[in-house]
Parts: sequence; C-alpha cells; structure tokens
Amino acid sequence: MKIKRPKGTRDILPSEVYKWQYIEDVIRKLCTINGYKEIRTPVFEHTELFERGVGETTDIVQKEMYTFFDKGGRSITLKPEGTAPVVRSFIENNIFNDPQPTKIYYITPCYRYERPQAGRLREFHQFGIEVFGSKDSYVDAEVINVGMTLLQSLGIKNLELRINSVGCPICRKEYNLKLKAYLEHKLQGLCKFCQDRYNTNPLRILDCKEEKCKRKLEDAPFMLDNLCDDCKNHFERLKKGLDIIGLDYIVDPKIVRGLDYYTKTAFEIISNDIGAQGTVCGGGRYDGLIEQCGGPSTPGIGFGLGLERLLLILENQGIPFPEEEKPELFIAAIGEKADDKAMELLFELRRLSIKADKDYMDRSLKAQMKYADKLKVKSVIIIGDEEIEKNIIKIKNMENGEVKDALLNDIDDIVNKVRR
Ligand code: ATP
Ligand code: MG
Repeated sequence: MKIKRPKGTRDILPSEVYKWQYIEDVIRKLCTINGYKEIRTPVFEHTELFERGVGETTDIVQKEMYTFFDKGGRSITLKPEGTAPVVRSFIENNIFNDPQPTKIYYITPCYRYERPQAGRLREFHQFGIEVFGSKDSYVDAEVINVGMTLLQSLGIKNLELRINSVGCPICRKEYNLKLKAYLEHKLQGLCKFCQDRYNTNPLRILDCKEEKCKRKLEDAPFMLDNLCDDCKNHFERLKKGLDIIGLDYIVDPKIVRGLDYYTKTAFEIISNDIGAQGTVCGGGRYDGLIEQCGGPSTPGIGFGLGLERLLLILENQGIPFPEEEKPELFIAAIGEKADDKAMELLFELRRLSIKADKDYMDRSLKAQMKYADKLKVKSVIIIGDEEIEKNIIKIKNMENGEVKDALLNDIDDIVNKVRR
C-alpha cells in the first residue's frame, strides 16, 4: 500500500521551493530594516502554555489543537500559533531585563485540526512579529506597517486594512454587560460555543463564523463606541500613526481577534482574491498576555500572517516570482578517462563556487546534451579523449551558441569563459 501524506498537509516540492525561499528572503530583509530579530522556538510545547496563552474560550484551544501525551505522560501540543511560545521564551530567558522594546519575528509551521480547504490546512506556515514592552500606539502602527509593506512589496493589490479597538479589561467589563443585555433574549438562537462564550467571553461571540450567530448580532453594540478615555486616546494615536506612515485603513468595529488576551488594537489585512479565507494577516495588542503567562506586567503587540494564503493571493493575482537560479555549467564526458577528468574539473570548479554538474547515469553524449538542455544550464563543456590529449576544451554558450576554446589545465581561464 502506498503511504500518503496526512490530510491537510502539503509537500513543498523542490520544483516550487524557490517561491518560499523568495518570500522568506523578502521577510528577513524587511524585518532587518525594521529592527526585528528572529526567534526559533520548539514545534511542541506544554499544552498548558496554549490553554493559558491563547485562551480557553478560543476555537484554537476548544477544537483545533494537536494534543497528545508523550511517553513520559506529559501533555504536549504542537504549536497552533506563534505568539504564546515567543511570550514563554521572553519570560523564561529574562529577555524583559534587556532594554525595551523587544522586537522579534518568526517563520514557523503551525498545526491546527481544521477542515482542510483552500487556504486552510492542518499544517500551515506563519510569519509573525511581536513587540514587547511599549504601550505606544505608534508601535501598533509600525507593526501593521510591517505586514502591509510585506504584502505590498510583493506586488499584491486590492488589500484592505481593517482596524478596531477591543478596549481594555476596565471598559470591556462594562461593555460586556451591555452586550449580554442585548443578547439575553437571543441566546437560544446562538450556537453551542457562543452560548458558552456568553458567560466566559461574550466579546468573542462577535467573531463567530456561524451564520445564525452573525444574524443575531446585526444590531449589537460595539466595543468601539464604549471605550474608556485611555483606550480612545490610544486608538486616535494609532490612526494618527497610520496617517503619518501613509497607510489607508478602514475602521471596522466588527473586527475581534480570536484570542482572549487582546486589548485595544485589533486588525486584519484582507484580500478579496482568495475566496472565503480572505484574512491573510491578523493581529493586535495583548497587554495582559505576558502577565497571564507568568511574566512581569508587560504590554505587547503582534500579528500572524499565513504564508500559504499569501502564496494563494500571489497566484490568484498572477504575480510572477523572480526566476529560479539556473546552473551555470554542465560537463559532458565521452568515455571512462574523460569521465575521471570531468569529475576532477567539476569539483575544482565547485570549489570556486561555479554552479556545475556532470552526468552520473552513464548516458550517451547525445543524452547528456539533452539532459543539460533540460537543466537549462548556461554553458556546456564536452570532454573526450581528443580534448585530454590536446589539453584544449570547448565551452559552448547554450544561450547564443557561441563556442570558446580554453586550456583544460587552466582553471582560471575556464572560470572566466564560463562566467563570461
Ligand atoms: P481564520 O479566521 O481564517 O480561521 P484565525 O483567526 O484562526 O483565521 P490567526 O490565528 O489570527 O487566524 O492566524 C493568523 C493567520 O494565519 C491567518 O490570518 C491566516 O492567514 C493563517 N491561518 C490561520 N489558520 C490557518 C490554517 N488552518 N491554514 C492556513 N492558514 C491559516
Ligand atoms: Mg481559525
């Protein structure tokens, strides 16, 4: 029986990996320009981290985690998102003692048990950034701008930036009472999860994807209209920051991020070119999270950006990727003696960083040339008995057909003529 990959996973094949490498390259450069350093945390963590750090009332914790007991009987969970592990590491490694803010990015696989569909996988990849230590909403503007700049610099069009404020524990407490009063007589019509959320985290009902819940919420009061002065000022300064940077945005009071410890800023970047799974980037401020995870009270903000969704947008908008790097040279050999010489030359050239290859399949000369063509090499050298005897080889430029002679024992000459 042929073994297949698990449902909801994908192979990134050698023929397409250049797309990923290109995007990762753009990400790394962008992060460096903006002053973010990379962090790499384990693929699995103690389950408790996500229960505390993502929140018991979220879809992730309630339905989507890959949780199992390891051989030592510990409850382990595959990383469903990037923020909680970074927070854990920030606390565990006392990074809060460094001068603040701490600016971190990651590129990581994530695991969620979801129903696979376009833009929704069980193993997917996220690029994310986090800033710890500053309350200033200009930081929120900077963070949002990193996400927008990445997408825009890749050539993506028709993006919508939607921003909102979900308040703080103080104003949300009052708002929750208003929202609960509004929902009191509609409770029976809500889904089972929202009925629970009504008691645990009513704001999250606004984020439910069930149609019947969405309908019930049409005239619900918004957090945005019920902010305290501190949260209101914070939101005004965020908008000012975005204006200074020159980013367009839509204020959308319906944006509620899925995590429990979000405070103040919540935002999404949406593309209408990838169907239902239109949110490519989601993030916000979580001033309560680090304390919740056992650290000193420290504000934070960040986002997660789905790389599979990003690739889908690029494909659907027909945006081309830079071409893959081609090998520079193929060395074809006729006969055993020439094959030894080709081997010697190949490794000498590779030591000088020439991207070269030779035949390992005992092909005929004709088949070697066909193969070289398929590799799309820029030049070919053919070595036979005569070339060895006369110490002269021909370097053929496959792009214009030009042929140049070089001395077989003069490696610098060969390099120059291959490099042209
Ligand atoms: P959604 O509402 O689409 O389920 P989410 O709110 O669960 O998204 P986040 O937890 O904020 O998403 O994750 C950030 C980003 O990661 C999303 O905007 C999306 O681009 C990507 N993402 C989330 N879940 C998946 C998945 N199962 N497969 C592929 N990408 C995903
Ligand atoms: Mg989700």
